[in-house]
Amino acid sequence: MFYVRFALHLYTKFSNMAIELSQLVRDNIQKLKPYSCARNEFKGEASVFLDANENPMNAPYNRYPDPLQEELKGKIAKIKHIRPSQIMLGVGSDEPIDLIIRIFCEPKENNIVAIDPTYNMYKVCADINNVEYRPVLLNDDFSLDAERLLAAVDEQTKVIFLCSPNNPTANVLNHNEVRNVLNSFGGITVIDEAYIDFSSQPSWLTELDNFPNLVVMQTFSKAWGLASVRCGMAFASEKIISYLNNVKYPYNINTLTQRFVSEQLDHEERKNKWVEMLLEQRGILAEKLQTIPFVEKIYPSDANFLLVKVPDPEGLYNKLVNDGIIVRKRNNLSLCLGCLRITVGTEEENNILINELKQL
Ligand SMILES: *Cc1c(COP(=O)(O)O)cnc(C)c1O
Repeated sequence: MFYVRFALHLYTKFSNMAIELSQLVRDNIQKLKPYSCARNEFKGEASVFLDANENPMNAPYNRYPDPLQEELKGKIAKIKHIRPSQIMLGVGSDEPIDLIIRIFCEPKENNIVAIDPTYNMYKVCADINNVEYRPVLLNDDFSLDAERLLAAVDEQTKVIFLCSPNNPTANVLNHNEVRNVLNSFGGITVIDEAYIDFSSQPSWLTELDNFPNLVVMQTFSKAWGLASVRCGMAFASEKIISYLNNVKYPYNINTLTQRFVSEQLDHEERKNKWVEMLLEQRGILAEKLQTIPFVEKIYPSDANFLLVKVPDPEGLYNKLVNDGIIVRKRNNLSLCLGCLRITVGTEEENNILINELKQL
């Protein structure tokens, strides 16, 4: 139903394979009458607000936040060259990941297909929602084989999760293979672009209007340096965004976060400088790691981290912990035998790491 195999070969003629949302969204969500909050019912200028049982004291914190974050979305829309109606904001990317599963997947009935290895949160959310999760191996060089991925799809597959640049493999997924997936799969394809600012390849955002069932996710947690504020972005068609808005908690993004992120967006040039610095450091760190005798392999990176293969990842991890340096063990993930994931830090932090490694 969702996957037409011959479309793989004729994809340029079949770019409208997308299945109608009315056939994809769970019945209970289609029928849902969403919570209508006071801040939704009245919009405009007024001087006396007696509608939301708020305390009149302690301004401005006494007021409920804007449930649809219009000011913030206006700024994001300008930066991303899309319409505000194509944006949903969540408590990190974790929120839209969970909501997408809840909107589309009937527990114990539908399934999700995803690349393997990848970000573990897709599987955790699928498990919590009791939705079958089907991991499909990337190639040995971490590239995507669209045909293998699509072979795992059946009539019950509602969502495919792709991550590009992928965590923890650090590579961008090949554009043509991703396009194959988008053209051949009628359900919802999510592309998680948490690391897109560090990539030399373009975002899939420009393709939103061509693929009505595409969801692109980005975040303020990485390039923008705002992991602590918990703000993630989902970009999609107006229809998908309105389902996300209906299902989310009405006031998911609090006023402090909305104002702070909005203020940070005024300093895009600062974010760009950080990215530039981290890309330079990524190159330097990779070069220096190459000189460490026991480092077997440093995988190419389009992100702010390096996946590094060593003979004894557990032992190395423990030694680094003893020196107060924490990296991430990824050696138990598919295709990642012997691998540690190392985030690119400041020049000083990276030097501390390298000096420790030299002494081992
Ligand atoms: C870090 C990361 C995120 C960010 O998640 P937030 O909840 O927005 O902090 C999303 N996806 C991937 C693949 C990541 O590695």
